[in-house]
Amino acid sequence: MSEPTFRTPKGTHDVLPEDHQYMTYIKKAVRHRARQAGYKRIDTPMFEDKGIFERGIGEHTDIVEKELFTVTGKRDGEGKERTYALRPEFTAGICRSYIEHGMQLLPQPVELYAIGQCFRYDRPQKGRYRQFHQFDFEVIGLKDPSLDAQLISMTCNIFKDLKILPRLNLQINNIGSQENRQAYVTALKDFFIGKERHLPEQDRERLKLNPLRLLDSKEEDTRILLKSAPTFSQFLSDESKQYHATLLEYLDALNVTYVPNEQLVRGLDYYTQTVFEFWDQSTGAQNAVGGGGRYDGLMELLGGKPTPGVGFAGGIERTIWHMKEAGVQVPNKDQVDVFVAQLGPEAKKACLQLVAELRDKGVHTVGALGEASLKSQMRLADKFEARYTLLLGKLEVKENTIILRDMKAGKQKQIAFKDAIPQVVDLLGKENLDTYVLRDHIGGETDED
Ligand code: AMP
Repeated sequence: MSEPTFRTPKGTHDVLPEDHQYMTYIKKAVRHRARQAGYKRIDTPMFEDKGIFERGIGEHTDIVEKELFTVTGKRDGEGKERTYALRPEFTAGICRSYIEHGMQLLPQPVELYAIGQCFRYDRPQKGRYRQFHQFDFEVIGLKDPSLDAQLISMTCNIFKDLKILPRLNLQINNIGSQENRQAYVTALKDFFIGKERHLPEQDRERLKLNPLRLLDSKEEDTRILLKSAPTFSQFLSDESKQYHATLLEYLDALNVTYVPNEQLVRGLDYYTQTVFEFWDQSTGAQNAVGGGGRYDGLMELLGGKPTPGVGFAGGIERTIWHMKEAGVQVPNKDQVDVFVAQLGPEAKKACLQLVAELRDKGVHTVGALGEASLKSQMRLADKFEARYTLLLGKLEVKENTIILRDMKAGKQKQIAFKDAIPQVVDLLGKENLDTYVLRDHIGGETDED
C-alpha cells in the first residue's frame, strides 16, 4: 500500500469499528449505573469561552497553561475577538450550564452525567492523546461525605462491571478547604525560602506560580526536599479531618477498597476537600484511568452563587486499554447473521425485498447486490463470517424456492421462498434478534450515541 496523503492529526486517532464495540459497551455500563443512581444526561458544547477554563481550572495549571486548544472566533461588530477553547474536561462547562440555566432552582443535588470528547494539547504518548473520550459525573448543590462516597462507589461499580477493578488502585486524599490550602501554600513557600537553588528550574517556576504542584513533582531533588517539608495534613482543619474520616467510614460501609495517599493533590485548582484517582496497579499515577473530587469553590469562580459539587471523570481510551489487557471480551454486535446471494435481474429484485424484510425483523443482513458470480458471492459470505446464506439463482426464482446454507456446518437445503424468513428467525432464535421498540427511544438515547 502506498503512503496515504493525509493522516489523522498528531495525538488523535480514528475509533475503528473494533474499538467502537468496547466504547459502546463502556457507555452502556456508564448509562446503566448513572440511571440507577438518578443521574441525567447532559451535553455541553465542545468549545467554551476560554475564560471558563482559565478561571475554573486555574491559569497556572498544566491543563490551562500548556494544554488548551484555543479557537479564535471572527471579530464581532465592535471589532472584538472572542477566544474559545476546546474543552479539556467537562466539569467547568457543566457548572457554567448549571448557572446559566438556573439549575439551583431544581431539587438538589442535581446529578448530571456526560460522555464525549475532550481535548488537551499535550505531548502525545501512550495513553495520552490530544483528543480523547471521557465519561463524567457531577453531583451539584449539596455537600455531604455520603455524596462523595456514593459517587466513588458508583465509579467502582462501573469498573467492576467492565471487569477491570482488580487492575486499579483507588487513591484518596483530602486537600482541605481553600483556607487550609492557602495556609499550607504559605508554609510551603516559607519552607523553600533559601532552598530555591536546589530545585530544578521547572519546579522553581512552580514554587512561584502554583506551589501545590511541587507535591506532584517527579524530580529527585524536589522529592528529597519535600521529605522534610511541612505536610498537608498539618494544615487540615478539624472540620476537613472529620469530613474525610466520615467519608472513609462510608466507603468502608459500602465495601469500597481504597489507599489513603497524602501526596495526592490532582492538577486542577478547583478542588477542595476530597480528591481521588484510580491508578493502574503497575504504573501508578502516570496512567490513571479516572479521577475526581469536590469543588465547592468553582461555581463562585464562574460567577454563580456559592454551590458545592463533587465530580468524577474516567478516560475511555485507557479503560479500553485495560479491558483488552485483562482479556475482557465484549459482545460483537456487528455479527452478520445472513448473507443474501443472488443471480439475475428477477432474483435481484426479490432479494432487495427479502433483505429489507429480514433487517426489519432484526436479522443482521448483508446482501451482495452486485453482478458477481454465485461462487464469488459465496466467498464474500465467508469473508463476512455470515452464519447463514440465502441463495437465489435463476432456477430458484422459477421454482419459487431459495437455498438456505448453514455456513459453519457447510450444509444446505432448498426451501420454499416464503419459508426463508421464518426459518432464519427460528434458527437464530427470537431472543437473538436485533429489534427495538420505539418506547426505548423516548428519552432520546440509542445504544450508539
Ligand atoms: P483528569 O481529570 O485530568 O485526571 O482526567 C481524567 C481521566 O481522563 C484520566 O484519568 C484519563 O483516564 C483521561 N485522560 C486525561 N487526559 C488524557 C489524555 N490526554 N489522553 C487520554 N486520556 C486522558
